[in-house]
Amino acid sequence: MKIGILSRKPELYSTRRLAEACEEKGHEVKIIDTLRCYMNITSHNPEVHYKGQKLEGFDAIIPRIGASITFYGTAVVRQFEMMGVYSLNESVAITRSRDKLRSLQLLARKGVGGAVTGFAHSTQYTEDLIKMVGGAPLIVKLLEGTQGIGVILAETDKAAESVIEAFRGLKANILVQEYIKEAGGADIRCFVVGDKVVASMMRKAKEGEFRSNLHRGGTGSIIKITPEERSTAVRAARIMGLNLAGVDILRSNHGPVVMEVNSSPGLEGIEKSTGKDVAGMVVDYIQKNARDGKTQTRGKG
Ligand code: ADP
Ligand code: MG
Repeated sequence: MKIGILSRKPELYSTRRLAEACEEKGHEVKIIDTLRCYMNITSHNPEVHYKGQKLEGFDAIIPRIGASITFYGTAVVRQFEMMGVYSLNESVAITRSRDKLRSLQLLARKGVGGAVTGFAHSTQYTEDLIKMVGGAPLIVKLLEGTQGIGVILAETDKAAESVIEAFRGLKANILVQEYIKEAGGADIRCFVVGDKVVASMMRKAKEGEFRSNLHRGGTGSIIKITPEERSTAVRAARIMGLNLAGVDILRSNHGPVVMEVNSSPGLEGIEKSTGKDVAGMVVDYIQKNARDGKTQTRGKG
């Protein structure tokens, strides 16, 4: 097969490992800088060009779209879909998962456990909003934050109110969420490929920190997850429509709580914590599932 990896950074561990795995399994692989693609969106002859040339003959693409380029990145993915090229994750699924509010609403609709979460436009009734989600301590979260940036723990109702008002004053969209204290600064990253959790790790926040993100100094270690956690992760990925997903789960007193579903989960932490060839499993999945025009986004927007 000829596989394209849409990534801005060929030197990144995840990009390198995916490219290696493609080559090991006898595929031709090209790393494509997403922002350098440009496209012709006519219906009879959709094209993607790159560095002055038309991209041709691809059987599949692996989109690794960073949060800062979601808009352009998903347009490029959509264009490959228009050309009938299989995309490991569909453009609509990537867009969907980038919006924490939309994701939580979709998961809640299907009965997947999440933390009690509030959302408001106006700050007129902030006091009631805070009461609605159970009062302090509370998490206030930027809707499109990533790597733990934009996640704040407010210890008192007053602090929560000030933070909410400050963010809203800056026109930022935020969620107000119950603080799952019993998780103890740890969460579980489940790496889902297709309908399986192929690897999982526990991420523990560093001393004095509640956010377990590796980018915030958290550390990963291997963990055995429960059948309930496993099925929750698989369901969450399926609801989002992602074939490849990093599903983050907190262990709460009332069972597994899905924090978020990432569409470009990093490989370094999970491979190093578990010793598994996760990249290889991703490529195996593509090998089994990539078919011309199989990405179903077409017609769905
Ligand atoms: P990001 O997209 O920035 O990673 P998350 O929603 O995943 O945002 O939050 C980052 C981290 O903060 C989580 O991995 C978790 O450790 C901690 N966290 C977030 N929300 C809560 C919560 N409601 N209760 C307890 N910890 C939380
Ligand atoms: Mg996260």
